[in-house]
Amino acid sequence: MSVRFVIDSLDFVRNESERHGKIHVAELTRLHSYLFDDDGELTYAVTGLLNGNGKPILRIVINGTLNLCCQRCLGKLEHALGVQTDLLLAKNENELRLYDEDDKIDCILASNNMNVMTLIEDEIILNLSISSRHPKDKCSSESLNNSNQTTNALSDHPFAALAALKKTH
Ligand SMILES: [Zn+2]
Repeated sequence: MSVRFVIDSLDFVRNESERHGKIHVAELTRLHSYLFDDDGELTYAVTGLLNGNGKPILRIVINGTLNLCCQRCLGKLEHALGVQTDLLLAKNENELRLYDEDDKIDCILASNNMNVMTLIEDEIILNLSISSRHPKDKCSSESLNNSNQTTNALSDHPFAALAALKKTH
């Protein structure tokens, strides 16, 4: 499998390197539990560059379509993947801890032995956790549509309670 590759991450940035290519979905073994089937291909690009503050980052871009399993009805759910993320490279554990305190920064420890496919797989998994369900009107699961209504009823409740409070003042 020629797509597996390992980089020296800080060297990769220093040389302003870029690697891009295609990955068969079937190769992303950690994704399999999310998938309806492993058809398809993703394109990726990894670029080493300095951000606005002169800090080394890896920019990861991934595009393509995955056939996910809908978490409601377990049917096939096409998911268009459009990931672009900048990973700041921390030079040591102290730097990593410092950056980790900032929620807006995605930071990883620099390494001279970094498996880029693992990073790509991580980013895809992060992207998937946001939503993997059909829209309500397209989903074949009835029971979960009902439980959504329950959720709506619950979320209405605090406002109803507030309104009631206001009336008493
Ligand atoms: Zn569904």
